[in-house]
Amino acid sequence: MRNKRTLPKLSSVLLALVLAGSGATFANASAQRRRAPKPSPQASHASEAMSAEARELVERAIDVACRERRKDPKGSVPIDEMQARPSLPVRSEEAIAGSERAQRLLPMAKELVIEFLDRLATEYKFSSRSSRLKLQQAIQRVRMVRRIRPDMDSRDNASVLMRNPVTITFGTIFLAGLPSDEAMISVLGHELVHIADGDHDALLALYRALGKRASSLTGLDIRAQRAEELTCDVVGALAARKFVTATPDYDPLPRRVSRALAHNCVAEDEGDEDHLSPRNTIRALLSLNPALTYELVYGREERE
Ligand SMILES: [Zn+2]
Repeated sequence: MRNKRTLPKLSSVLLALVLAGSGATFANASAQRRRAPKPSPQASHASEAMSAEARELVERAIDVACRERRKDPKGSVPIDEMQARPSLPVRSEEAIAGSERAQRLLPMAKELVIEFLDRLATEYKFSSRSSRLKLQQAIQRVRMVRRIRPDMDSRDNASVLMRNPVTITFGTIFLAGLPSDEAMISVLGHELVHIADGDHDALLALYRALGKRASSLTGLDIRAQRAEELTCDVVGALAARKFVTATPDYDPLPRRVSRALAHNCVAEDEGDEDHLSPRNTIRALLSLNPALTYELVYGREERE
């Protein structure tokens, strides 16, 4: 999470799978996006604060997400627990399973990241001619990603070297700690955004706009690297949410949504200069995405 990763490009089969989703909000939004930039409800509020009710709903949603994690056979391991675990050999069964999952989901994660980067660019008015050019180059970098490399020494982390931005290096503890496809899409999405940014901060203006909005909503200080990390998490969560729509199963919606966030359900909630604390990350992410908050609390999609 402190670093970066990537994958390949979408096949028409995957696209069909995504679009065949059960008519959820995100599918509708993406259909609109192809016709014309949709008017953004968010672009106009540079400084909005949340109501007490909205904050309360976010707190309830965090409780649901973290409670679901404990009941879920595929619940993610919180990152503070991952940090406490002994290193895991690349050849271990869990690391192999995680690595295969990551590699399998990479093409879809890439397509979803491209879609949501494009959507956020519109939403946050990252739309000048030079911004659009930077976005196209960023998307190109995402398309180039090919490979997951499991690495024992990376432990609970993932990283991308910008001199070899086609490979995402994934700690084996991290691979093993994310046993659901939703969690893996979310984390792949996070790393792919770092790759999209490249080594010249191509997405800086987008990070700033999103960080500023998240700061106004939550009162948290979300600037510089923290804004980048939060943007990565937002794209990862949106990608995972759309993946849920595209791959219906019998698990309840809150459980599947929770998997996109639950690695942040830590007991030791510590941030640093570059990162919000894990629980504040969930808090900011849900504050920016009331549809996810609603789904966690009420167990169904919010209909307009
Ligand atoms: Zn990161």
